[in-house]
Amino acid sequence: ADRFDIDRVRADFPLLQREVHGKPLVYFDNANTSQKPASVIEAVDEHYRLHNANVARAVHELGEEATAAYEGARDRLARFINASSSQELVLTSGTTQSINLVAYSFLLPRLRPGDVIVTTVMEHHANIVPWQIVAQRSGATVKAAPINAAGELDVEAFIALLGPEVKLAAVGHVSNVLGTVNPVRELARECRRRGIPLLVDGSQAVPHRPVDVQSLGCDFYAVTGHKMLAPTGTGLLWARKEHLQAMPPFFGGGEMIREVSFEGTTFADPPHRFEAGTPNIAGFAGVTAAIDYYERLGFDAIRLWESELLAYATERLREVPGLRLFGEAADKEPVLSFLVEGAQATDLATLLDLEGIAVRSGHHCAHPLMAYYGVPATLRASLAFYNTPEEVDIFVAALQKVRKLLL
Ligand code: PMP
Repeated sequence: ADRFDIDRVRADFPLLQREVHGKPLVYFDNANTSQKPASVIEAVDEHYRLHNANVARAVHELGEEATAAYEGARDRLARFINASSSQELVLTSGTTQSINLVAYSFLLPRLRPGDVIVTTVMEHHANIVPWQIVAQRSGATVKAAPINAAGELDVEAFIALLGPEVKLAAVGHVSNVLGTVNPVRELARECRRRGIPLLVDGSQAVPHRPVDVQSLGCDFYAVTGHKMLAPTGTGLLWARKEHLQAMPPFFGGGEMIREVSFEGTTFADPPHRFEAGTPNIAGFAGVTAAIDYYERLGFDAIRLWESELLAYATERLREVPGLRLFGEAADKEPVLSFLVEGAQATDLATLLDLEGIAVRSGHHCAHPLMAYYGVPATLRASLAFYNTPEEVDIFVAALQKVRKLLL
């Protein structure tokens, strides 16, 4: 593989060139949303300049070009996660919509009083609340598997929860707070053995590692585009064909029907059955450009660079007096959550912002995880392949400085 040319990579991202409060931007909020390379921005721009039309409705040339862009993105995404067919991908506005689709269309009709949905304490609210809503409607309950001191899933406890009353299990592939990579293949094997469908929230995995849904062995895989270099309002739900075929439509409207009459309406085959209305066509043109970008760079190079960054950032953060790191999993993506003794997370984040450093403070849409640790919030520095060790140095120096201001 070619040497990782970080200067060239950074030059591809216009926003990384700007200053914030008179300081060069250090963008460490990548788990929240990634920045976009110029090629993605240009793909969206070009769509509106040259190809804009609605999908699937028109026979005219522009309509065909727009449809080709949209269906082309589906094909590229299918190969990106190694689905066996593009028809197993429902294009959505993001992970939240993907998970809600499974909750309402797949799960709700199957839930009876006393049924259980199993998840983990480290989930994002998007992988908790939809399950709670359908559980509440049907008299089912949601149970969460615990984690160990390193912030790794307690796999034995997870398996122990997989009783006969469990109708679905849902886990994150990678935690947005701890960076922990969950052993999805093993969990999928255990679920499969018991006939329990497994949904995996892949939001924080796809930006960092190649994903192969067939080899993972899960039933559903949810992805959001904006964390993987693509525009906001794009995402997907991958599901096994037999699940999609058994699922009734959730949103009704144009584009998802075969024949509509007041005597009765028939629906299109999956995946279009689940794609009512006009989608984010320009956004999906950007998705294709984002996948092109990942493939040009290659995940081998990305993973090597990011693992070095994570090791370096972890080592440097440990120099800060009174720093408590959350999440030290053996298999971990470059997300660092921490607190500094004697300083509020929000105060630190506000002062870091004045130094041009973007980190997130708060509960990271993971209230149960915060409760588990007994803290209201953490600071989170989440890195991407376009970050550098020099930025880590700037960040740690600034953290040392603002910490002293607050003590
Ligand atoms: N799951 C995880 C693990 C996430 O990190 C996020 C985004 N913070 C989501 C789900 C929700 O993604 P979106 O807001 O794009 O639907």
